[in-house]
Amino acid sequence: MTRALTRRLTVRFGLALFLGSGLILAAASVWNLRLQRRHLTHLVEARAIETADVFRAATRDAMMRNDPAQVRQIISTAAGGDTVERIRVFDKQGRIRVSSEGGEIGRLVDIAAEQCHSCHAQGEPLTVLPGEDRTRVFRNGDGSRVLGVIAPIHNEPGCAQAACHAHPATQTVLGVLDVQLSLRTVDRDMAASENQLMLAVSGSVLAVLALAGLLTWRMVLRPVERLTEATVQVAGGDFSRRIPVASQDELGRMTEAWNQMIDRLGEAHHEVERWSRTLESRIEAKTRELSEAHEGMLQAERMVSLGKLAAVVAHELNNPLTGIATYAQLLRRRAGDASDPDTARILEMISEESRHCGDIVRNLLLFSRTPGAPTANEDLVPVLERCEMLLRHAAQLQEVEFEVRVSDRPLRLACDPAQMRQLVLALSLNALEASPKGSRVSICAARDPSGEDVWLRVEDEGRGIDADDVPKLFEPFFTTKEEGKGVGLGLAVVYGIVQRHHGEILVETLEGVGTAFTIRLPVEVQGNNVRKSPKPDTDTAREGG
Ligand code: ADP
Repeated sequence: MTRALTRRLTVRFGLALFLGSGLILAAASVWNLRLQRRHLTHLVEARAIETADVFRAATRDAMMRNDPAQVRQIISTAAGGDTVERIRVFDKQGRIRVSSEGGEIGRLVDIAAEQCHSCHAQGEPLTVLPGEDRTRVFRNGDGSRVLGVIAPIHNEPGCAQAACHAHPATQTVLGVLDVQLSLRTVDRDMAASENQLMLAVSGSVLAVLALAGLLTWRMVLRPVERLTEATVQVAGGDFSRRIPVASQDELGRMTEAWNQMIDRLGEAHHEVERWSRTLESRIEAKTRELSEAHEGMLQAERMVSLGKLAAVVAHELNNPLTGIATYAQLLRRRAGDASDPDTARILEMISEESRHCGDIVRNLLLFSRTPGAPTANEDLVPVLERCEMLLRHAAQLQEVEFEVRVSDRPLRLACDPAQMRQLVLALSLNALEASPKGSRVSICAARDPSGEDVWLRVEDEGRGIDADDVPKLFEPFFTTKEEGKGVGLGLAVVYGIVQRHHGEILVETLEGVGTAFTIRLPVEVQGNNVRKSPKPDTDTAREGG
């Protein structure tokens, strides 16, 4: 708690200010007091010397007349008040000749004592004393201070020539008048004045401190505290805080600069955030693209393997199937009309089934990468018209609206028309089969604006395809139709044909809404320069809405 307090700038600053100003003002006061005291002492000493000289003058006549009673009378009268403690006269030998305290008259004092020391400090006693050497301060019995002043009594011509008590002319100083003044009142006044001064100093210290504290708090500490709070907020990620600029001084300019800095910092922060979001979304998109590409590659590899397998199987089955069909026909011919109806029916079934197997083998060969019929520059329009003719009847039976739209006539491209017909029929039959009554199936064909490609699109409003089934659509023998209705070779054949024509397939489907197969076919196939699509593109985006 104490540590936390001492860490606060306000507390530390206040303490330093308090101690510093206190020390300075205390030192100034002590110095001032000492000056005052010295000044007062000088004044008191001067007054005391004057007083001693007055007493000496007052007693001069009586001394000249050698009238000790008169001298005593004057002295006793003068010493009666509060100020004069004692007045006495010493002769040259240090004997007290006259004193306001009668009891000590005639006593011999030690000339090394305080009142004699000034003149008798050296071997030969002084005859003239400078002012400051005439005074001394000492304490009397009750502990109060007393200022002693001596006034040497010089040998005047009147004294040397007097008949009564002549002193030799060689004697310059006859004795000393010692006046002792009480400093009690002076000390009391001085103490009172010291107390007043101390009170004034303490009050000044407090007032200066309060004023300095108030000004410092308003002009420095409060702005600094605001700045600190705002900095903490900014460090926490909140860039909205601005500090009001309250002055035009250094702190005001610093606050202004701080606000500008936070503006820029906020902008930079938002920019960095925006970039990081963009970067994240780009990374996500690229990762998605990569994984799609990877999936596509796997799919393409699987399709290639399946194609090879299909080619081998088809080739291997082709010869035995041809043999079965040929021998079945031979048997039928040999038996002729003589054979019983059962044998004839069985032979007919063998021929039919082997023809069916032959169809499958042919489709397998179409799916595989075996080269098909040579492609030539053919018009797709008659192919589409023929398909329309073949399909219209089936569409009418199913009560499905059927339309073929061709944007460009003629629509030439390097293709095998028979394979094109097979492709359009396979896609359209699937579309019709998946379409409910009253829905619509459409075939659209157009040339790409670049003139390099032809687009063919077969679209329906049928049941759509399950998203899990989409990747398997072009695999041979994949079917969702019940047994006997579908073999699962239609789309495999479409895939093989598109591959052979160096095109691409895109599937868009949404369950319950419909399906669209879009095929891009290059208009020209030139050696290796053709654009190839190793895999069919599938797009179930419509599924996700
Ligand atoms: P098949 O028609 O003999 O089943 P396909 O290769 O032509 O074989 O089709 C494979 C599967 O693809 C079909 O069984 C069907 O589930 C699905 N399919 C193809 N086209 C469509 C379509 N337009 N709408 C819904 N499903 C389709």
